[in-house]
Amino acid sequence: MRVFFGMRDIDILEPRSVEEAVAALAQHGDEAKVIAGGTALVLMLKNQLVSPAYLISLGRVPGLDGVTYGAGVGLRLGALASIRQAETSAVVRQHCPTLAETFGKVANVRVRHAATVGGNVSEADYASDPPCVLVALRARAVALSPRGRREIPLTEFFRDFYETALAADELLTEIVVPEQPAGARQSYLKFVTRSSEDRPCIGACAWIDLDEAGVCRELRVTLGAVAGKPQEFAEAEALAAGQRLGPDLIGQVAQYYAEHIDPLSDARGSAWYRRRMAAVFVRRAIEQALGAGGEV
Ligand SMILES: Cc1cc2nc3c(=O)[nH]c(=O)nc-3n(C[C@H](O)[C@H](O)[C@H](O)COP(=O)(O)OP(=O)(O)OC[C@H]3O[C@@H](n4cnc5c(N)ncnc54)[C@H](O)[C@@H]3O)c2cc1C
Repeated sequence: MRVFFGMRDIDILEPRSVEEAVAALAQHGDEAKVIAGGTALVLMLKNQLVSPAYLISLGRVPGLDGVTYGAGVGLRLGALASIRQAETSAVVRQHCPTLAETFGKVANVRVRHAATVGGNVSEADYASDPPCVLVALRARAVALSPRGRREIPLTEFFRDFYETALAADELLTEIVVPEQPAGARQSYLKFVTRSSEDRPCIGACAWIDLDEAGVCRELRVTLGAVAGKPQEFAEAEALAAGQRLGPDLIGQVAQYYAEHIDPLSDARGSAWYRRRMAAVFVRRAIEQALGAGGEV
């Protein structure tokens, strides 16, 4: 099918299998864009931010919309699972309630029904919610190309504004969230400055693994929407290892993040404001995670 859109003719290809989708991507490479839910891509086309000769629609590709849990593997979120599906999935709610809640914080229910997990991650918008949490959970992206399958840790997947580690001929097929340690608990706070359905001004995820005595084995803190990709500072996280997370230590970690981010300014907040809010939301995210039960 050929359509006229965004000032040019675009051929729409409709592969019927993952193999056909990978082959189409390999054939048309830089000239093509994959389209899943279309909630982000159609806006980009309309505004002529992208101008592909081909759109490879995943709408008729079966088998990529599962949301499952396997012991020893963890959660597997198919790239074509809708965000609403991930939000309401019984296994996501059971094994990682914070992740289910985070999917529930994306946009509004109409967008969540159309938008896909794979589209959200591949878009790599700096102000998306799920990437921040998926990075803290040490999730992996699975990519397919004619060269085969490869797994990319999400800590390495997001490169910069709208830029990922996916090659032009790679299709994202699923996100794998590994099983979390028994003592791990998480929180995600989304701070919006405009409408409640807006993207975040700041997103803060805290991931804490505590031992039986309540001592911190490991702390991870990721901040979204402040720079081109989720921000994490190992030096600040290391302060917490082997310690009890009291107010002074939490304040120190929060202050480190506020001082070391290089925040952007946009319509949701200035760099000055984001730096101050970073200190507040890192502290609150850690406090909330400490108050949460362990998630298995
Ligand atoms: C009104 C509105 C409000 C929003 N608010 C939020 C918010 O609060 N928080 C938030 O996190 N997000 C928000 N979003 C963004 C939304 O989550 C994304 O638009 C959506 O997740 C993209 O998914 P999609 O399936 O529609 O992707 P598409 O629009 O189809 O594609 C997006 C990009 O990903 C690529 N792509 C898609 N699937 C694959 C794949 N399997 N392999 C390789 N590349 C692929 C496409 O080529 C394109 O570049 C909002 C969007 C809208 C329209």
